[in-house]
Amino acid sequence: MSETINRRTFLSAAGVAAASVCVNSALPLAAQEQKKKQAAPKKEGTVNQNDLEICDTHQHLWDLTKFKLPWLKGDEVQKINRSFLMSDYLKLVGTHKVVKTVYMEVNVDPKQQAAEAEYVLDLCGKKDNPMCGAIIGGSPQSAEFAKYMEPFAANKRINGVRTVLHDPDRPKGMCLEKTFVDNVKRLGDMGKSFDLCMRPDEIGDGAKLGELCPKTTLVVDHCGNMPVHSDDKAQREAWMKGMKAAAARPNTFCKISGIIVTAKPDAWKTSDLEPNISFCLETFGIDRCFFGGDWPVCTLTAPLADWISSLKDIVKHMPLDWQKKLFHDNAVRVYQVAAK
Ligand SMILES: [Zn+2]
Repeated sequence: MSETINRRTFLSAAGVAAASVCVNSALPLAAQEQKKKQAAPKKEGTVNQNDLEICDTHQHLWDLTKFKLPWLKGDEVQKINRSFLMSDYLKLVGTHKVVKTVYMEVNVDPKQQAAEAEYVLDLCGKKDNPMCGAIIGGSPQSAEFAKYMEPFAANKRINGVRTVLHDPDRPKGMCLEKTFVDNVKRLGDMGKSFDLCMRPDEIGDGAKLGELCPKTTLVVDHCGNMPVHSDDKAQREAWMKGMKAAAARPNTFCKISGIIVTAKPDAWKTSDLEPNISFCLETFGIDRCFFGGDWPVCTLTAPLADWISSLKDIVKHMPLDWQKKLFHDNAVRVYQVAAK
């Protein structure tokens, strides 16, 4: 499968109405013409989406009796200001067949980052849950980062690192500072990835980081964090430009996650999510996008099972092969998720 899909092939295979997609393909016209000559993947009849195996690459858990999450205060997050454990997740995933999960760090007090990593490594070691790996918290902006990573360097259950870049105390351009760049390069040398969770109009910086660190796998979280209802044209244009620049880096991938939280709680529709998701799929191509649940943050808008159903609905006309890539295979390849 080619890494980039031309718009017409994608739209017809995905069954997406052209009018609902507000963007042009990232491919230049000549390349589009060339690609048009390639046959679209064969459809394999009706897909029973209940059977799709899922690797959820963005599973948060927090046990507030063990960890402090400084951001978990105020009215906005009141609904999720309690503990969320693996047992809760397994009940709420419904009939969806989640066979693997990758833990995503939860922005704990930095002093607790190593303890957070140990907490999830313990879960990875147990057979009673699907967690196979983790993206742990870490601070590439710190000179201590190499030392912090030492105990995890050879551990195959630690797939990568994230530090959220959109918090108010994170200045614009932070990920391009020398120490940060050197440490992200270091992650590549260890075979670990780095997740980019950034303001939507700063994704271009993530693309530059991808260029500076060609041996490190970078993953743009949450479709680049562009709010689905935003009418801020300048922000949307900057997001689209940044996403296209990121997609031009072969080491950079896109996680289809998080987006539900920007839709209206209790009044959202699948069609609210579809334009941003389609843009990401077209821009990065079906081989470079993968699913993340972002539970329990997603519950600020919708239950996890409903959000998964909604994404399945958006891609239901795609060939089975493509759906498998999106929900499972790409994640396992990109994050190098080891079997349980
Ligand atoms: Zn999240």
